[in-house]
Amino acid sequence: MNFSENPIIVFYEVTRACLLTCKHCRASAQKKRNPLELNLDEIEKLAKDLSKFNNPKPMVIITGGDPLMREDIFQILDIFNKENFSLSISFSGTKLATPEKLDLISKKVKNVAISIDGSNEKIHDNFRNVNGTFKTSIEILNYLQGKVNLQVNTTVGKHNLMDLPNILRLVQSFNIKTWDLFFIVPTGRATSELSLNSDEIIQVMSWLYYVQSSMDFRIKVTEAPFYNRVKMEGPKDNGEIFNYLMKNSDIKMIKKMLPVTKDSKNLGVTDGRGTIFISHIGEIQPTGFLPIIAGNVRKDNIVDVYIKSPVFRDLKDPYLLKGKCGKCNFREICGGSRARAFAIYGDYLQEDPACPF
Ligand code: SF4
Repeated sequence: MNFSENPIIVFYEVTRACLLTCKHCRASAQKKRNPLELNLDEIEKLAKDLSKFNNPKPMVIITGGDPLMREDIFQILDIFNKENFSLSISFSGTKLATPEKLDLISKKVKNVAISIDGSNEKIHDNFRNVNGTFKTSIEILNYLQGKVNLQVNTTVGKHNLMDLPNILRLVQSFNIKTWDLFFIVPTGRATSELSLNSDEIIQVMSWLYYVQSSMDFRIKVTEAPFYNRVKMEGPKDNGEIFNYLMKNSDIKMIKKMLPVTKDSKNLGVTDGRGTIFISHIGEIQPTGFLPIIAGNVRKDNIVDVYIKSPVFRDLKDPYLLKGKCGKCNFREICGGSRARAFAIYGDYLQEDPACPF
């Protein structure tokens, strides 16, 4: 895949409105919609512009805030379907997700992602800051079983480190395609106190290596591309946390060659290198976690911005990286989280401070 001209994933934040007030929310989501959100005409133009990327077309992920806070969400899905994008949606575990809406969603998208951040109400609801959202999220996952490809998103941090084996058991009980683990970037409402340190991260990643070796669903990580290096070099089988996670999970220590990506083509996808994020008001960013604005879909051509803007050009070139990422032999298949480098150092080319190597 030629990242220099083609993104593989486009995230479109249709709104920042959400009924939840999650502790880690990068969008600092609010209860009310912003009147400056893109309207349907502008979204139609956006879909047409995006379809000008060379084939294969990028996958479009509809996100928020909570996309269900927009009453025109089904028209938005229709707009992207009309342009034949492979479509995914991620929405919040609230009562807005009625059975009628879920039925309609399952007809209009390929994948649905729901967040589970703890194996029980106490951990999940405390993190999401609203009681009842754990129960609702489980109900949504149960309802959508067999109707659509399911993905569970889990934000990994201090709040659920020792709960990971229980979350794995819960995730296993659904017929999911993908488990996506997000490693916190201190941006929006997320603070560094929630984040794992690099020693904790390598132990979690070593456990994840064995989870991936034993499970038939896909494991994906977000803002932790050094997992690619763990997959290539193998896990580190020691540490108190690693031992705890292994002891409490029903998985075997099988060492096998894990593909660096599902199809070994999309190597080294990081913020802006294979990804684009469009905010609710049309700003073009590398990802939602890296709030650098490279243009606006209201006035700029998104294909030009991705190919030519200085920010995206920098991010696509691993040979511009600084610090230990700049010297690392794995910079092409990892490259570190550019969002975390920016959040900590104010320089998106700096080393990833969470790198466990
Ligand atoms: S030094 Fe940078 S490129 Fe190398 S493994 Fe760590 S995060 Fe990845």
